[in-house]
Amino acid sequence: MEQITDWQVVFLLLTVAIASAISLYAAGSSQGKGKFLCDDCRFNNDNDCLKAERPAAVVCTAYRSNSESREQ
Ligand code: SF4
Repeated sequence: MEQITDWQVVFLLLTVAIASAISLYAAGSSQGKGKFLCDDCRFNNDNDCLKAERPAAVVCTAYRSNSESREQ
């Protein structure tokens, strides 16, 4: 049976650390603040959004945060 070398352990630890850092960054920078995007979307009402996913969209190309300026 092959032995695990020190550099293999270091590589594995680096891989886990980088994957964790990427996951934390993605979670912090993703759209929406709640469980669903609609929770803080400016279009979350019957007049502005006719999507079937509302009010529980987790992916939506029309999502716009309530905090964004309406003039954009
Ligand atoms: S535009 Fe998308 S995110 Fe916004 S309320 Fe409609 S379905 Fe939800």
